Amino acid sequence: MRDDVHVTTTDAAPTDDATTFADLGLREELLRALTGLGYEEPTPIQREAIPELMTGRDLLGQAATGTGKTAAFALPILQRMPAQGRGGDPTALVLVPTRELCIQVSEALHRYGRELGARVLPIYGGQPIGRQLRELERGVDVVVATPGRALDHLARGTLRLDQIEIVVLDEADEMLDMGFAEDLEGILTATPPLRQTVLFSATMPSRINGIARKHLREPVRIQIEREVTAAGEVPRVRQTAYVVARSHKAAALGRILDIESPTAAIVFCRTREEVDQLTETLNGRGYRAEALHGGMGQEQRDRVMSRLRAGTADLLVATDVAARGLDVEQLTHVVNYDVPSAPESYVHRIGRVGRGGREGVAITLVEPRAHRMLKTIERVTKQRIAVEKVPTSADLRARRLELTRAALHETLLEDDLEHFRVVVETLTDDFDIMQVALAAVKLAHEASGAGSDEDEIPEAAPAPVREDREHRTPGGSRSGRDRSRGPSGGMARVYVGGGRSAGIRPQDLVGAIANESTLSGRDVGAIEIADRFSLVEVPEGAADEVINALQNTRIKGRKLQVRRDEKS
Ligand code: AMP
Repeated sequence: MRDDVHVTTTDAAPTDDATTFADLGLREELLRALTGLGYEEPTPIQREAIPELMTGRDLLGQAATGTGKTAAFALPILQRMPAQGRGGDPTALVLVPTRELCIQVSEALHRYGRELGARVLPIYGGQPIGRQLRELERGVDVVVATPGRALDHLARGTLRLDQIEIVVLDEADEMLDMGFAEDLEGILTATPPLRQTVLFSATMPSRINGIARKHLREPVRIQIEREVTAAGEVPRVRQTAYVVARSHKAAALGRILDIESPTAAIVFCRTREEVDQLTETLNGRGYRAEALHGGMGQEQRDRVMSRLRAGTADLLVATDVAARGLDVEQLTHVVNYDVPSAPESYVHRIGRVGRGGREGVAITLVEPRAHRMLKTIERVTKQRIAVEKVPTSADLRARRLELTRAALHETLLEDDLEHFRVVVETLTDDFDIMQVALAAVKLAHEASGAGSDEDEIPEAAPAPVREDREHRTPGGSRSGRDRSRGPSGGMARVYVGGGRSAGIRPQDLVGAIANESTLSGRDVGAIEIADRFSLVEVPEGAADEVINALQNTRIKGRKLQVRRDEKS
């Protein structure tokens, strides 16, 4: 950061309209858990849904992964839990499409409800049923389940739903997509009619509205897109996104910063923990980063700001709350370390650059599953966010050489080179002048501290959104690609020895894979259903696991032959 960077703190405290978790009326145990996790304020979906859910209303929410929807239903579930004297049967049931989400949601409930001693049980296919039976027998408060396995337990009489007070259908569109409609009906019918029902879905196709009409009573409808600033107010900045797996995000950010060379950048994180961790990682990689979050005292914050002013820091890593009211002139880059929880928050963040006609750059790191939220932001802001590839080590080397070249060019234009002439002249007695130049460039390049971040960052594909999967017509075959062309890049094709004549539909295969393996429905690629067999594309790295899982399960009540397709 240069000396001309001007920083002012107009208002360090949150603005008046900010709602805190305490304002939402959450009990102390939950507030402490949230503080412990470094959550500073509710996301828009939480701000709207939590008070409604706490009054006992049914709710229909349109929200994708990344909006904070899990806490939006988990906190009200925990809020109503009696401190003691709980019975054996669960009072809350959360239905989710995949095993992955089942584990994630259970962990979230467990984290938020730790102090309350919430007994949370995930039940999903693929896990030995014995443990689930023992836990159910011992007594649980919240069951988080995939529909197939929940129905199994209902049939065995091991899951009793008579005490259920609240049912949540999470990622309902995904559950329907995977052929769970009948299972959902069966489960809902087994719960008391006066229960509270909550449905979250990223999209609202008519089938979801159908379920809502049938099973929800006068639901309040919540849609985070509604809150967004008018498109006209979205600043014109260069907007780029990179799809990166969580484990590679810090390395990817380092590379992107190297290529972009911001004059001053602010990196937004979701929680205090994330701010602290990322600051440490970036400093470890040689950047001069400063953390700023709501957990810091005024004195600490002042110190950070003066380091920025003095130009001894290049990057500010901050939460939204901490950065509120902070005006950093000359800011060239805004980085969203995660996709923001609502389009309005995205707009607000990127509004910090590109002021006064200066060029601004907004960079967003997207984990594969949060890709849908990025699409929502694009739709709402009516601006395109270009998805680019994380710079490779070759790109970085090229960029570093370019910087060295530029530095040499600048030096050549200065005219104080004369007293180095003697060095060149002596060396040219023995070497070609070109070689001398090459050696000098090498020295200059190495002295510039060109790092050695040579490990490749694997390319992550965005999880496909529903619109990408139109080829999965019921019982139909994939359009546009025939079998002889082989699977798409990075995908392996799995042969399943049953097809149309066995009544197999694409959703049966997606459902079986999502339920029995670690993949989610979105990871599954093209599906082709022939009369007597089917072909399913899955990521190459997961092919063996999927084959193994499918060999040990029944599809449409039958064990089928499953193997790698030889043609792939
Ligand atoms: P979800 O949309 O429920 O999958 O949540 C996305 C991520 O945001 C998860 O990693 C949560 O831990 C995190 N998160 C949820 N609510 C908040 C909040 N109010 N502040 C900070 N992080 C949050």
